[in-house]
Amino acid sequence: PSFKELGVIDPLLQALEQMSYKVPTPIQVETLPPAFEGRDIIGVAATGSGKTAAFAIPILQKLWDTPQGLFACVLAPTRELAYQISQQFEALGSTIGVRCAVVVGGLDMQSQMVALAKKPHIVIATPGRLQDILENMKGFSLRNIKFLVLDEADRLLDLDFGPVIDKLLKILPTSRTTYLFSATMTTKVAKLQRASLSNPVRLQV
Ligand code: AMP
Repeated sequence: PSFKELGVIDPLLQALEQMSYKVPTPIQVETLPPAFEGRDIIGVAATGSGKTAAFAIPILQKLWDTPQGLFACVLAPTRELAYQISQQFEALGSTIGVRCAVVVGGLDMQSQMVALAKKPHIVIATPGRLQDILENMKGFSLRNIKFLVLDEADRLLDLDFGPVIDKLLKILPTSRTTYLFSATMTTKVAKLQRASLSNPVRLQV
């Protein structure tokens, strides 16, 4: 099927065309229909599969429907991956004016707070720095987000972000939609799944 046949809206189709994404990858074909139905999703897919667009498109499509403040939080294991995810959100969301902020360790926290104060729609973060900012920045909260993405969940847990993620889960709204992507399905990932997703669709490519 084409992106259009999968139900992608016109402004995002335009962006996809600008990016020369002509046909959806297998993980995108599998993810988009249940995501558009509002389901939680577990995707077993490696980097290079097109998983970023698979979770970014449904989030952007919902943002277009119901524009509002801080909308989604994406947790990634590394700074590099966080920036790559942000670039894809900005490219895919260029036609709908999406605003992203990247919040990662090892870089100046003050400028990240300035970026958050500009009211982005999407925050892409490594968990430790996000926790630091939540504890230190007045007026910044994730209480109203609609989407949580746990990207490369196996690597997040290998880097010992488990306890921080557990803490974050306690302050996020339970009414959110959650997507979890992982290259491998380990016992630890299964445990995180049970703690964070509700009645998810399981996809594998
Ligand atoms: P990812 O697995 O999300 O890291 O994506 C791997 C690479 O594939 C990235 O460089 C994307 O820009 C690219 N990509 C994702 N989806 C498509 C698509 N449908 N058509 C062409 N390239 C794509």
